[in-house]
Amino acid sequence: MTIVFATNNSNKIREVQNQLPDHIRLISLEDIGCLVDIPETQDTIAGNAIQKATYIKDHFGLDCFADDTGLEVTALNGAPGVFSARYAGPQRNADDNMNLVLARLQPKHDRTAQFKTVIALHFQGELITFEGICKGKITETKRGTDGFGYDPIFQPANYKATFAELSMAEKNRIGHRGQAVAKLISYLNRH
Ligand code: IMP
Repeated sequence: MTIVFATNNSNKIREVQNQLPDHIRLISLEDIGCLVDIPETQDTIAGNAIQKATYIKDHFGLDCFADDTGLEVTALNGAPGVFSARYAGPQRNADDNMNLVLARLQPKHDRTAQFKTVIALHFQGELITFEGICKGKITETKRGTDGFGYDPIFQPANYKATFAELSMAEKNRIGHRGQAVAKLISYLNRH
């Protein structure tokens, strides 16, 4: 059986494929000839994941899943949230985004935050979502060089290191996306 993972990130595809049984084969957007930017116009992370997966289901008639992730900072009322990629502007620059979070948090006392990933799956006529959350706090300064996005300013709960100072294996084990993927895999393995 074939399922589309609505991404062209081959690392993400390989990581999930490696954990699936042999009878489930993942294919990318490129594999199905989907070369457009799939609309992401919803105002929630779950909404965007569902919108992307539903676009593929509607236009290609294939079973499919899509993921969407955001950083939610408590003292910023959940921002950057669904706007995480373009928080500081359309240039989608990670440094600009982190600097804006640090500046807006400077006068605040509460530095707690969480990453949230939602995976939406269209499978055998059903739509199911899987959520992964990683709680932590925003550091005072950027630390570490690994990872991407907001990793240098996010310190997961019970860790002294930021995500950018942890190994990829450790980040995947405790991280938001890893948890959502684990739920997806467990579901697919039962079907
Ligand atoms: P996407 O939904 O995976 O494209 O993620 C949206 C945005 O959230 C990215 O552009 C990053 O700014 C941020 N982001 C997502 N996942 C992570 C992560 O694991 N670490 C740090 N930032 C992330």
